[in-house]
Amino acid sequence: MKFYSTNNPSLKVDLRQAVTQGLAPDNGLYMPEQIPVLSKTFFEALPTMSFEDMAFAVAHNIIGDDIPAEELKRIVKHTLQFDTPVVKVEDDVYALELFHGPTLAFKDFGARFMSQLLGYFAKQQDQEIVILAATSGDTGSAVANGFLGVPGTRVVVLYPSGKVSEIQEKQFTTLEKNITALEVDGTFDDCQRLVKEAFLDQDLKKKFFLTSANSINIARLIPQSFYYFYSYARLQHLGKPVVYCIPSGNFGNITGGLFAQRMGLPIHHFVAATNSNDVVPVYLKTKQFQPRPSQQTISNAMDVGNPSNFVRMLELFGKDFDALAKDITGYSFTDDETRTAMRDVFSQKHYVMDPHGAIGYLGLKKYQKEISNNVTGVFLETAHPAKFKEVVDETLATSIDIPEPLQKFMAGKKTTIPATTDFGAFKKFLLEKF
Ligand SMILES: *Cc1c(COP(=O)(O)O)cnc(C)c1O
Repeated sequence: MKFYSTNNPSLKVDLRQAVTQGLAPDNGLYMPEQIPVLSKTFFEALPTMSFEDMAFAVAHNIIGDDIPAEELKRIVKHTLQFDTPVVKVEDDVYALELFHGPTLAFKDFGARFMSQLLGYFAKQQDQEIVILAATSGDTGSAVANGFLGVPGTRVVVLYPSGKVSEIQEKQFTTLEKNITALEVDGTFDDCQRLVKEAFLDQDLKKKFFLTSANSINIARLIPQSFYYFYSYARLQHLGKPVVYCIPSGNFGNITGGLFAQRMGLPIHHFVAATNSNDVVPVYLKTKQFQPRPSQQTISNAMDVGNPSNFVRMLELFGKDFDALAKDITGYSFTDDETRTAMRDVFSQKHYVMDPHGAIGYLGLKKYQKEISNNVTGVFLETAHPAKFKEVVDETLATSIDIPEPLQKFMAGKKTTIPATTDFGAFKKFLLEKF
């Protein structure tokens, strides 16, 4: 399979280049040249297939033979070492729990898959691969843990100081080994900008083999289509159209769903739900895409003012607004609405939602109310509630348990390097430290 840059369709590279570069040299994002539809036989077998087998078929469908099938099987298996339950919350409303991985958020899927893929390519070259990851919380932990100890790789995590929860922070600042955490005195958008600038900097490119682990890397997106197939297979016997609501920030998770749909998975409709960082819902109403500085909310992993995968979404619809707006509905919700939903679902359905999942729940309910169609609704529960324990405890007036993997992180010692939003200083740091 070849991958092209969204800035220039004639710039095509192979999987190794797409994954090791992250961002295309012209600043575009890589997209598969085609997204083949899976076979009829595959869809017939889907309801009884194992998660691993369907994920391998999906990954192979996009990647092709760029890496040996046995290696891809191993990578898929490594990625999926945890459960992905589909939990009924109420009639026609299911939570797809994506938080049972080692860092308890859905980003484990992308990070684990990508780390293995990059590790495979790192073995074939002499130079160490330096992975830059800007994070609003969960990317940093998933990427750092995914790459921890992977030979031939070094990770630099950039995060906005004071804007991620203590539990999130501990998950990428206590690891050491090949992981370095930069505590940036700024916002997530500043961190993302520093990373983007680094990729365009000739001096850095000369000295390092740089790549990005943000959702701009195509390797993160491929495994994010796996669980749409898996959950669909669990729910298709209900015989109703299936609608997915995705709590969104950089819109990588929903892009994984769109990939699944392009591969032939009959997803009826998508709902993109955001917090008050509502650039995409506003676009869907007004046709105007106007990035703006991010605002801080209680669903902080979605505090994104300029969603990086938006261009990929547009690309999947041939840059046709009407086609996109027909398949995707956008809603945004305030922190107060989010808290109310968490409280109501807890008291009435005895289900604990984290603030991100709660936005997914709200988006799904709103959509189901607006259409008269009887649909099976799935919202993606993207993080374990304990990752946002402070907000969840306060909102639900309870004290939720911290699962063991998180307790271990909490006991670790935080080590970070303070940084400013100045690119010159960031560059100097990289050149001198490594
Ligand atoms: C990253 C993240 C999101 C947003 O996912 P995108 O792919 O950036 O849209 C939602 N919830 C949680 C918990 C996350 O970590």
